[in-house]
Amino acid sequence: ADIAMYTAKGKRIGYTVFDHSQDSTDPRKLTLASDLRQGIEQDQLVLHYQPKVDTRTGKVLGAEALVRWQHPEHGLIPPTEFIPLAEHTGLITPLTRFVLDTALRQCQEWLRDGHELSVAVNVSTHRLLDLDFPAEVADRLQYWQLPAHLLTVEITESAIMTDPDRALHVVQQLHALGVHLSIDDFGTGYSSMAYLKTLPVHELKIDRTFVGSMTTSDRDAVIVRSTAELGRNLGLRVIAEGVEDMATWQVLDAAGCDALQGYYISRPVTADAFATWLRHQRGA
Ligand code: C2E
Ligand code: CA
Ligand code: CA
Ligand code: CA
Repeated sequence: ADIAMYTAKGKRIGYTVFDHSQDSTDPRKLTLASDLRQGIEQDQLVLHYQPKVDTRTGKVLGAEALVRWQHPEHGLIPPTEFIPLAEHTGLITPLTRFVLDTALRQCQEWLRDGHELSVAVNVSTHRLLDLDFPAEVADRLQYWQLPAHLLTVEITESAIMTDPDRALHVVQQLHALGVHLSIDDFGTGYSSMAYLKTLPVHELKIDRTFVGSMTTSDRDAVIVRSTAELGRNLGLRVIAEGVEDMATWQVLDAAGCDALQGYYISRPVTADAFATWLRHQRGA
């Protein structure tokens, strides 16, 4: 069934397919919804950063910001547990605002410390389809005095396919600002590749479900190699996520993948731990 989506202020912005399994009357979920509202207000959300490195040189190019919720009773809650909830309650608007602001502030700090690194944020369906979103991004870039190309917005195929025309409009506006766009989880959505012709994106990110098994599954290796070639032929940067060992790195290098992300390089870590990691990279 379709339901309307609302912004935090109750403004109706569009429709999405509603997953009823998420709409449970599970008392924990209901508590979490009101807890999340409070959590955002009381600064319980934190960002962890995971480096993106150049496949050839290993040099760090930037980092992806991944949100976590430091819940006063339940401890550190992973985003997979509260992002869907945030999407359904409209809390995704203040949440994304927090993520954007914090990531840009961090990017500014790296720049001050002499590291010109890009920062990537994940933007889910609700925000991607909000026509006001590009203006919000422009405002925050201006506030932090950052060049737009240092920000990458990661979007999924399924978010695009929810409303391709609207997504195209928002993506074009972000592109016009100079923000880089990345298609996350590439290959996993029910999508039409036709959108690749029209969307001004810079990067394809190959999903870790293919990357993680490419050294053991010939089929996954073929999918990764074909995606890398597709991206290359379209003039896009290709990045692989979920790199957990050296063997995978080598196969991705041979496949012509431009950049890598994964536990083998670093898990997502706090801003402080990331700064330490950066210093070690420099010394190495
Ligand atoms: P994603 O954008 O596909 O992020 C990659 C996920 O893979 C992250 O999980 C990361 O910790 C994990 N990962 C990275 N390297 C490896 C690896 O080598 N092996 C394995 N097995 N996993 C790896 P995480 O942080 O739990 O995030 C899960 C999802 O939550 C993200 O998937 C993204 O869709 C969503 N998410 C995270 N932060 C945000 C956010 O700020 N806003 C929105 N809207 N969604 C977010
Ligand atoms: Ca991502
Ligand atoms: Ca992904
Ligand atoms: Ca994912």
